[in-house]
This record gives sequence, C-alpha cells and structure tokens, in this order.
Amino acid sequence: MKLTYLGTAAAEGWPAAFCNCDGCRAARRLGGRNIRTRSQALVDDALLLDFPCDTWLHALRQGLDFSAVRWLLVTHSHTDHFYPAELVNRGGCYSHGMKSPTLDIFCNEAVRDYFYKAAGHELVPDVEQRLRFHIVRPFECVSAGPYRVTPLPAKHMDTEQALFYLIEREGRSLLYAHDTGRFYPEVYEFLAGRAAPLSAVSLDSTSGRFENGENDGHMGLPDAAAVRLRLLEAGAAGPNTRFIANHFSHNGGWLHDEFARNAAPYQIEPAYDGMTVEL
Ligand SMILES: [Zn+2]
Ligand SMILES: [Zn+2]
Ligand SMILES: [Zn+2]
Repeated sequence: MKLTYLGTAAAEGWPAAFCNCDGCRAARRLGGRNIRTRSQALVDDALLLDFPCDTWLHALRQGLDFSAVRWLLVTHSHTDHFYPAELVNRGGCYSHGMKSPTLDIFCNEAVRDYFYKAAGHELVPDVEQRLRFHIVRPFECVSAGPYRVTPLPAKHMDTEQALFYLIEREGRSLLYAHDTGRFYPEVYEFLAGRAAPLSAVSLDSTSGRFENGENDGHMGLPDAAAVRLRLLEAGAAGPNTRFIANHFSHNGGWLHDEFARNAAPYQIEPAYDGMTVEL
C-alpha cells in the first residue's frame, strides 16, 4: 500500500486564514512543511480518507485525478473532514470523462445526512446516483474492493460516533487515527487480537507539545507517545511499525522541525503535506 498525506492540519489549517498567532506568522514566514492544509490522505490513488474543503487544492497540488478514486472513508461530519458541497460537482456538466463514475462512501449517518442537507436543491440526479453511501459501525468490517476496512470508535465528540479506520490489504495494515483522543479499551483489545503487528499507525497530534490526557477528544505528542506504548505492550504494534503524527493545530506550539526533534525519542515522525509512505 502507498499512503499519501494530502493535508495534515486541524480544522482551521496552518496558518489559519484569520490568525496572527506566533505559530501562524512563523508558518507564513518559513513556508515548506509548516504550511498545512486540512487533513486528507490517499491510499494507492484509489481509496480516499476524508473529504475536506481543501480537496480541490489537493488534486491540483498533487496532480491527482480524483475521478479515479473508487472508495471514500469519512471519519465524521466536522467540516475539516467532510465538505459535502464539493461532491455536488461530481457529475453532470461539472465532471466529464470520469474514470470511476461510482463512488462508494463509507461513513456514519451524520455524514450522509449532512451531505443531503448541504447539497439541497443543487443535487442533480446523475450526481446522486453515482454516490453510494454505506453506513458503517465500529468493529464491523466491510470490503472496499481489495481493502478490508474496519471502522473503530473515536473518542472525539458527543453528537455523533466519530470513527477512525483500520485498512488492510495483502498482509499490510494502516491504522489511520485522527480526531480521536487516547483510544477506548475495547479498541486496544481489538487491535491486540490481530494476527500480525500493524504496518503503520497515524495518530492525532492536534495539540502538538501539550498533553490532553485520557478523556479528551484530541491528542498531543505526550498522548500519542502513550498510545504508541500501549499498542506495543499489547502486541498490536512491533519494532517495524511506523508511527506518524498527523492533524496539527497552530495552537500546538511546535512547527514541523520542532515537532520532529521532540518526537524522535519516541520514534514518532510528523506528517507533512505531500508526504508518501510505502507500507
Ligand atoms: Zn479535525
Ligand atoms: Zn494561529
Ligand atoms: Zn473533528
């Protein structure tokens, strides 16, 4: 599997449009890996993880043809992860010569309902017919073509059950976990019960240098390091598991290189926009 990080920021992006904090001003000045768009990732150019408002920019910047994407996994309905208005452009007079006209979307009910609410009167029949929503539930495995996908319950919000995903293919595995606090005990139990250690784990690091503790809906590096240890102790991860931090907020205090320096002792590396990982 090839994983490409298209965007690696939390809700407001980094720098945020209306912000002049030290972190945003430094990102504007330094550029490079400090510029982070809203979180989205792509597996093998065919399976997309989340659909933020920066999706259009990601296709442009990475030279991607999103019409070839067959499967979309959505974590939850916060707009940095699901921007349904863009899906309205997926067909009709807006999109010609699409490589995969049908898009299978795996999500919770809130995401599907948000799509219909946002699309409203702009939804034309051939767009709607090409979107197939599949409502998924924690721990209930589904198939997305060659991928085995297991939704897991995120500790993130009260108004819906946010999800994160385990994606497996031909013995390789990716745990893509952002917009979650430290995991629920049943998630560790489930992951410990798998036959082989995870190939890669992508962990929420919204809070950067700060610790959120057991009961918050996000993580900082101290939390990600604690989750890594628990996964290792449980046997869900091993010495060859690659740990990557993702979903950064400007409130987290560390720019890319500072995060990398501070995370290195924990064998965690920060993602950046455009980063690719071969699993
Ligand atoms: Zn988010
Ligand atoms: Zn800021
Ligand atoms: Zn969220």
